[in-house]
Amino acid sequence: MNTPHLANRLPDALAGIEAAAARIQDHVARTPLVASPALTRHCGVPVYLKLETRQPTGAFKLRGAMNALLALTEPARRRGLVTASTGNHGRAVAYAARAMGVPATVYMSAIVPANKVEAVRALGAEVRIIGRSQDDAQAEVDRLVAAQGLTQIPPFDHLDIIAGQGTIGLELLDDLPDLALVLVPLSGGGLAGGVALAIKARRPAARVIGISMTRGAAMAASLAAGHPVEIVEEDTLADSLGGGIGRDNRVTFALCRSLLDEIILLSEAEIAAGIRHAGHEEGERVEGAGAVGIAALLCGKIRPTGLGLTGPVAVVVSGGNIDEGLHRRIMMGDIP
Ligand SMILES: *Cc1c(COP(=O)(O)O)cnc(C)c1O
Repeated sequence: MNTPHLANRLPDALAGIEAAAARIQDHVARTPLVASPALTRHCGVPVYLKLETRQPTGAFKLRGAMNALLALTEPARRRGLVTASTGNHGRAVAYAARAMGVPATVYMSAIVPANKVEAVRALGAEVRIIGRSQDDAQAEVDRLVAAQGLTQIPPFDHLDIIAGQGTIGLELLDDLPDLALVLVPLSGGGLAGGVALAIKARRPAARVIGISMTRGAAMAASLAAGHPVEIVEEDTLADSLGGGIGRDNRVTFALCRSLLDEIILLSEAEIAAGIRHAGHEEGERVEGAGAVGIAALLCGKIRPTGLGLTGPVAVVVSGGNIDEGLHRRIMMGDIP
């Protein structure tokens, strides 16, 4: 999928995202976009926060999961749903499956934080812990799908998931028609790819920047290599951004290559400062992955005026599911 090819298909993609918006609107939150006076002062242009922390599952992933489940045929749904997840996707699939009264099993690696495992169990899904990495969990899901015919709900590399996450882009443009720049947390690229599709189709002049952590940035490494590469998963405050993009990535690698204007990588200290700012200045409890947009503005790795922009900047605050003890230690400055 090269750039001109993809550009020709933007209207189709936009139609898919609009269909997703109609499908999920009664099942997910239409999240608020709030002004940030502190970041506006810091950057010299208007800055707004898109609070996906307000989804009933605490993260945007409910959009994609709900869209994917609603798009399934009834027999496919009844065969039983299975997914591999670093946490928030598993929680979203569990929530959506319960809403539709179908069983779900979520495979997680041993490095997923305990609070996220418990949240999925509490929603009535079965949790199985397998291996040390997201790739190990994914391999087990692939085996089960082949052996037992279960229906897989992938975390990012699937058109219905991408379209669901892209509904954030439609809401941003409804609220801010003159949007100049969107900052999006980046892992597998379902969120960044979906948001970029919506934004570039409706407002091509707006830029979209993806943000990952330095420790294990799979999409950035893959784009640099020119093909999907395996990375070593490391502990990071942005645990929801961990994991690979899949060796046989079908959609999100090409999407991010074509549509993201830039990718920025952040240190653990920069992410911690973003979490602290969200808590102290914005009154929001935000997880590491959700804080990277704020963090990139604070540390100056993204300077809107330096990019020649005067228009509004939207920061996707993607989730708030952080362990309470960890959050407290970060807020007190004990970490890092
Ligand atoms: C999954 C997740 C992301 C990254 O989404 P991708 O589609 O994998 O790029 C960002 N923030 C949070 C809170 C997440 O759970």
